[in-house]
Amino acid sequence: MVFFSENFIKEVQSKADIVDIVSEYVSLRRRGENYVALCPFHSEKTPSFTVSPRKQLFYCFGCGTGGNVFNFIMKKENLSFPEAVRFLAEKIGLEIRENEESLSDSFKLKREIYNINKMAAEFFHENLSRKEGERAREYLQLRGISLKTAEEFFLGYALPSWDSLFNYLTKKDISPELIVKSGLIIPGRQKGSYYDRFRDRIIFPIKDVYGHFVGFGGRVIGQGEPKYLNSPDTPVFTKGTLLYGIDKITREDEKGIILVEGYMDVISLFQSGINRAVASLGTSLTEAQAKLLRRYTEEVVIAYDMDAAGRNATLRGLEILREEGLNIRILTLPEGKDPDEFLQKYGKEAFENQLHNAKNFIEYLLDQQREKLDLNKSVDKLKFIKKAVQILSQIEDEIERNFYIDRLYRQYEIPKNTLLKALHKKRIEDIPEIGFKYKNSQFRNNNKELREQSPNKALVNGIFRTEREVLKALINYPESGKKAAYKLSPIYFLYKNHKKIFSAILELVKKGEVITEDKVLLALSKDEVAASDFTKLLMEGEFIKKEEHIEELVLKIKQNYLKFAMKQIKEKIKKAETIGEYNTAINLLNYYQKLRKEMELLKEESAEKGGM
Ligand SMILES: [Zn+2]
Repeated sequence: MVFFSENFIKEVQSKADIVDIVSEYVSLRRRGENYVALCPFHSEKTPSFTVSPRKQLFYCFGCGTGGNVFNFIMKKENLSFPEAVRFLAEKIGLEIRENEESLSDSFKLKREIYNINKMAAEFFHENLSRKEGERAREYLQLRGISLKTAEEFFLGYALPSWDSLFNYLTKKDISPELIVKSGLIIPGRQKGSYYDRFRDRIIFPIKDVYGHFVGFGGRVIGQGEPKYLNSPDTPVFTKGTLLYGIDKITREDEKGIILVEGYMDVISLFQSGINRAVASLGTSLTEAQAKLLRRYTEEVVIAYDMDAAGRNATLRGLEILREEGLNIRILTLPEGKDPDEFLQKYGKEAFENQLHNAKNFIEYLLDQQREKLDLNKSVDKLKFIKKAVQILSQIEDEIERNFYIDRLYRQYEIPKNTLLKALHKKRIEDIPEIGFKYKNSQFRNNNKELREQSPNKALVNGIFRTEREVLKALINYPESGKKAAYKLSPIYFLYKNHKKIFSAILELVKKGEVITEDKVLLALSKDEVAASDFTKLLMEGEFIKKEEHIEELVLKIKQNYLKFAMKQIKEKIKKAETIGEYNTAINLLNYYQKLRKEMELLKEESAEKGGM
C-alpha cells in the first residue's frame, strides 16, 4: 500500500471542513461556537454529538466517539486511514497524484467487488422465487423459515449448474478476471474456463456493518460435503473480522448480544422475535470480532453447541471477550441442542427462560472443572480446589468472590478458610503490576473505576487531572513538551488511555517529529477508544498552565505514580502478613523501600525547583 505524503494529507484536511463533511451525514444545529446533532454512532434522543469548527474535531458526549474529519469518515464509511484520505480527496475534488495510484486501484477494486456481490446476491435471491428454486423453497420450509424471513435475510439459491452465475455476470459486461477476485467463480483447468463456486446450495449473503454485501455462505440441500461453503478471503471479505447478522443489530446497551455458531441460529432467533444474535462464521471467535461486538454492547451471551468442539470454542471465546472488557454469560441448552433446534422444538418463551438463566463465566468455568472430576475422591477434590482458586482469583470484587466461596462451601463442603487463605496467597503473588484493571467502559465513566479501587478520592481525582494536564501541555508546547516526554515513560500514566496517548506522543518525539494534534490522532487511528478520549481531551477547554509549569507537572505525575504504587504495596504487605506469607512480605517491603527512595529524590528535585 502506498501512503500519502504529509503535505497531501494536510491539504485534504484544510479543504475538507469538518462541518461540511459531517453535515452530509447528520443535520447539525448551531449551539454557541459549536454545532450539535443526534449522534450517528449511537441512538439517542437529545443531541450530544458535538462538532467544533474552530478545532476541526468532533466528539460525542454520549458514546465517547471522537476525532478529526478522517476519524469521522473512517468510522462512518468503514475505511482505513489511507482510504479515508482518498475518499475525502475525491469528494473535495483534489487531484490524486501519480504515486497514489496503487491505493486508488485497491479502493476501486473493493468498490467493484461490492458491486459484483450485490448483483450476485440479487441473482441468487431471484432464483429462490423461480421455478428452478422449488427444491430450495421446500428445504427452507422444512427448516421452518418463512418467506418473510427469507426476504429479510435476502436468502438465495445457487442453481445446480456449473455456470449460471458466471453467464449472468459476464452478460453484464463484467470480466471473468474480476469475478474471480470476488471469489464467486473459480478458474477451471483449461485456460479461459471458469465455473461457479456455489452450486445447488442455499445462499446466505453476508453483510458488513454498513450493509455492503461482502461474501456468501452456501449450505447443501440434503446430504453432501462440505455442509457449509463460504466465500474465500477477498479484498472485501476477511474471515474472522465479520459477524453474520451484525447489520441487523441496533445499539442497545442494556440488552446483550447472543453469539451463536451458524447462519440458521441467527435466522431462527430473528424469526422468533429475538433480533440480537450474530454468528461468528466458523467456531473460534477472533479479537477483531470481539472488538466489533464491543462497539455494540457490553454483554455477550455465548450460545454455541455444547459438543466438545463447541466447548473449546466457548472457552477460547471467553478469554477473547474478557480481554475486551465485555460481560459474558454462557447459555447451555439442554440435550446439547443448538439455538435453532431448541427454538423449533420448544419455542421462544422456553428459549428466553434459558437465556435468563444463562450462567456467568465464573459459574461456567467452575462447572466445567467439576464435571471432569469425582469430588468423592480426595485427590480429585484437591484438584478441584486448586482450579477453583485459579478461577476465583480472577474476580476483582471482594463481595463477588465471597459469594462463590460461600457457594462452594454449600455445594461441595469446601472449607471457606482453605479457599480464602489460598486465594489471598494467589492474589498477592499475582499482581506485580501497579495500576488498575482496565475495562473498555472506563473512559466513559472517567475515574469511577479507579475511585472504587482507592478510597482516597482526592488522590484519584488529582491523578486523573494531572495526567490530562501533562498530555495537554505536551501538545500545547511542542518544544518544552519534547524535553518533558523524554523524562517520562508510559508507566507513569495510570489510565490506560493516557498511557496509549503518551506512548503515541513519545514515538513521534523519538522519530524527531513535531508533536501536533493531528499526528497524534493519526498515530492512534487504529485504536478508536484512545483516539476518542484524546479528542475529548482536546475539546475539554483551553489549557491554562504556562509553559514553565511543564516541569512541575512532570514531577507531579511521577509523585502521583509513586504515591499510588506505595499505597498498593503497603496494602499487599499487610495482607501477606495476616496470612503468614512472610517471604512475600519481605520481597514487597524491599520493593516498597525502592519506591520510597525514588520518592525522596523527587522531593529533593522539586525543592530545588522552588517547591510544588
Ligand atoms: Zn454517540
